[in-house]
Order: sequence, then C-alpha cells, then structure tokens
Amino acid sequence: MPTKETIFDVVIVGGGLAGLSLSILLAQKNYSVLLIEKKSYPYHKVCGEYISNESRDFLLRLGIPVNSMDLPQIQTVQLTGVKGQQVSENMRLGGFGISRYCLDQLLAEKAIASGVHLLQATTCHKYSRESSLFEIASSAGTFRSKVLVGSFGRHASGNFFKSTKESENWIGVKYHIQYAFPDDCIALHTFKDGYCGISKIEGQQYCLCYLVRASLLNSYHNNIQEMEKGELYKNPVLHDIFSKATFLFEKPVTVSNITFDAKKPVVDDVFYLGDSAGAIAPLTGNGMSNAMRSAWLLSKELADFLEDKISFTTLKHRYEKQWNLNFKIESEAENSCNTSFAIRI
Ligand SMILES: Cc1cc2nc3c(=O)[nH]c(=O)nc-3n(C[C@H](O)[C@H](O)[C@H](O)COP(=O)(O)OP(=O)(O)OC[C@H]3O[C@@H](n4cnc5c(N)ncnc54)[C@H](O)[C@@H]3O)c2cc1C
Repeated sequence: MPTKETIFDVVIVGGGLAGLSLSILLAQKNYSVLLIEKKSYPYHKVCGEYISNESRDFLLRLGIPVNSMDLPQIQTVQLTGVKGQQVSENMRLGGFGISRYCLDQLLAEKAIASGVHLLQATTCHKYSRESSLFEIASSAGTFRSKVLVGSFGRHASGNFFKSTKESENWIGVKYHIQYAFPDDCIALHTFKDGYCGISKIEGQQYCLCYLVRASLLNSYHNNIQEMEKGELYKNPVLHDIFSKATFLFEKPVTVSNITFDAKKPVVDDVFYLGDSAGAIAPLTGNGMSNAMRSAWLLSKELADFLEDKISFTTLKHRYEKQWNLNFKIESEAENSCNTSFAIRI
C-alpha cells in the first residue's frame, strides 16, 4: 500500500479509458504510477459502446486482444428521423462493439499486471502543489507525485478545473438488451430532444443508449419509463425496440448533468485527459477514441519530462500544443453544434 512518503512519478485521478490507458503506457516504461478510481471494476457505465476502428491498433498495443475476442464488426450506420423515416450508409472506417463493463475491466487487469498501483473504490477530493510536488487528498489518504493528471470524465470534484459556463444539461440512459438487429450496424434513432443508439456488443447482447435533454425528463417528473412511452415511442422504430426487446438490467444505468462546455488540457499545472479536457463526442464513435488518443499524446511528452529531457513548463506547452492540434477544432465544432447532433462516424 503506498503511503504519503511515497513519491510517485504520476498520480492519475479517474480510471476510465483515458486514465487506464495512460497508466498502462507509463507503467510499461517503468514509471511509478498511482491510479485512483472511485468505483470498483467491473461496472456498467453510460456509453454507446461503439468504438471507432481508429483505436483498434492502440488497444492491441496495450495488450487488449480485440481481434480475437469475436467482437461484432460494425460497418453500416442507420439513422431515423422522429417519425421513423430511415437512411443507411456504409462507414469508411467502421468500428466494433464492446461493453465498458468488459473493456474497462480488461484494461484495469492490464494496468495491475503492468505495475500500476490501482486504488479502487477511492475518491479523490482535492490537491495542492508545493515545491514541485503535488499532494492529492483522497478517501484512502494523501499521496504525492511529480505530475498530476485529471481523467475523471465530465464531473470535476474539489479544486480540479471545471468550466464556469452554465450550459444546458443532458441525461444519459443505457440498457443491455436482446433484440433482432443486424450485427454489423449501428443505428441512431432521433426523438424530440434526444437520440438513441443501438449496436451489438460481446455475446448476444446489444447496447441501447440514449441522450436526452434534462428538461424533457423533468417534464415527466423524472420518470424514465413514462418519458420513454410519451416521447421515444413516437419514433416507430424505437417503439418496436422498446416493446419487443428483452431487457437484461433490472433498471437502466443513468448519468445526469452532462454538459458540452469547452474545457482545457492544462490548468494550474494539472494535465487533463479525455472528457475532463473536453474532448466529447457522444454516440458519434469518437469520445472513447479521443480519450485514448489524449492518453497517448500525454504519455509521449511525459516520458521526456520524467527523463529530465524537458522542463515542466516545456511539458505543459508541448501537451497543450498537441492537444490543440488533435482536438481543438473538433471540440469547438462539437460545442457549437451539439444540439443538432453532429454525426461524424
Ligand atoms: C450517452 C453517451 C453515449 C456515448 N456513446 C459513445 C460511443 O458509442 N462511442 C464512443 O466512443 N464514445 C461514446 N460516448 C463518450 C464516451 O463515453 C466518453 O467520451 C469516454 O468514456 C471518456 O473517457 P474518460 O476516460 O475521459 O472518462 P470516463 O470513462 O467517464 O472515466 C472517468 C472515470 O473517473 C472516475 N472518477 C470520477 N471522479 C472521480 C474522483 N473524484 N476520484 C476518483 N475517480 C473519479 C469515474 O468513476 C470514471 O471511471 C458516449 C457518452 C455518452 C454520455
């Protein structure tokens, strides 16, 4: 068990795709890494669970055998309008389906095997920085590191950076279901104030996941089933799915307070990755890939800093530059058109 006396090269707060990927990349280079995750693996997370093929090689390099796991290969996208009118298109790159329950667990196992100190069921509250060292306060005690990374997803706690902009709130809802639907297709079905995706994951399961304006759910007194009957069922395709599917969870997995505010990759000497840096593209196939890509970008720059080849200031500039080159236009576009559900699969 690490103590306050231990000085880690890097402490990472949040073990989603961004934090887990970075921890493995750094541990594989023999740096000492503490990853703090507030939940215990495996657990279900609201996500459409469709990963763009742009991340396939990256996951293979991390040691996740996605090519031999018999995962559904998804090559077609289908869209329906609120009244069920349909269009389909082949996707140039395509992707594959895998649940976060399975993927995050595999990455957590790989992190532990690579030498990462992984603290589960531990929440990070706040941090301070003195004499070039960070002190990180968590429910399991205080830890110290040379570098602090925030990869806690959309919701910041303590004094970690959060956007001050008050933007509109969205809710995410996810089920795993069984339903007669092609293995190689992802469908996005729109309804008033939201859209719902369906695509196959491992086993004979499909992920059914939607994003809806919080105001619509409020108008149904926060009753999800009533809102589904009153609004989602107006799209005949969604009506068919919801009335014929076998639902595999007792109740849906939900997440509230989703916003699409612009954020920053470096604030007050802390490095931000994935959704905590603002690279958000829900149900469009890119949020997970962006999280992994940001981990890869930071890992390259961090190695130079930890080898004393560059200063902390240069590290910050380099990561900011790389992040802006890779994501800035994308995240600005996302922020300016998120309510029109930009689809860039
Ligand atoms: C409805 C919906 C559908 C989506 N569908 C898709 C899709 O089909 N394909 C796709 O590529 N992307 C999709 N996304 C986006 C994708 O889920 C995210 O972009 C991705 O999960 C970001 O990864 P991350 O590691 O940054 O954050 P997360 O995966 O959210 O991980 C953050 C982690 O930090 C932990 N944490 C939070 N606070 C603390 C704390 N204080 N202390 C310790 N730990 C903490 C959390 O428990 C969590 O495990 C979807 C998003 C939504 C909302």
